[in-house]
Amino acid sequence: MAWVQSGAQLGELFYAIARLSTHLAFPARLCPMVGVGGHFGGGFGTLVRKYGLATDYVIDDYLMDSRSRIMNRKAIGEEVFCAIRGGGAGSFGIVLSLRWIAANQLIN
Ligand SMILES: Cc1cc2nc3c(=O)[nH]c(=O)nc-3n(C[C@H](O)[C@H](O)[C@H](O)COP(=O)(O)OP(=O)(O)OC[C@H]3O[C@@H](n4cnc5c(N)ncnc54)[C@H](O)[C@@H]3O)c2cc1C
Repeated sequence: MAWVQSGAQLGELFYAIARLSTHLAFPARLCPMVGVGGHFGGGFGTLVRKYGLATDYVIDDYLMDSRSRIMNRKAIGEEVFCAIRGGGAGSFGIVLSLRWIAANQLIN
């Protein structure tokens, strides 16, 4: 498990993973300049048939709402958390960071 800030680009995320591990995988698009904040509202890539979407591996987040409250998954509740992962977070607040689990950690 790891946290990534929503301003990171996919290339930065993949580079960080590769530096830490030779066997953990994260399913997302290869295009390195795509942002984590938008891409994690869905996100299909070359591993989609086996592992699904990037958003399937997001397990927690920090969201700032319109009152500047910063809330994690437990605080925002499962319905909003589900909506953020499926529909994009922009309607609900600003996602500051996301916690994810590697695909092969979840499957195995
Ligand atoms: C060259 C290229 C290739 C692509 N290939 C693929 C692909 O193979 N598979 C795929 O699934 N998608 C692909 N996409 C689409 C890409 O995943 C989406 O456009 C994604 O929304 C980009 O996110 P962003 O943060 O870079 O963009 P932004 O324009 O910054 O964000 C897009 C939307 O996401 C929301 N958002 C972004 N950051 C936050 C945040 N921190 N908090 C709340 N809401 C936020 C906002 O509603 C915003 O309108 C590709 C895009 C490009 C440009």
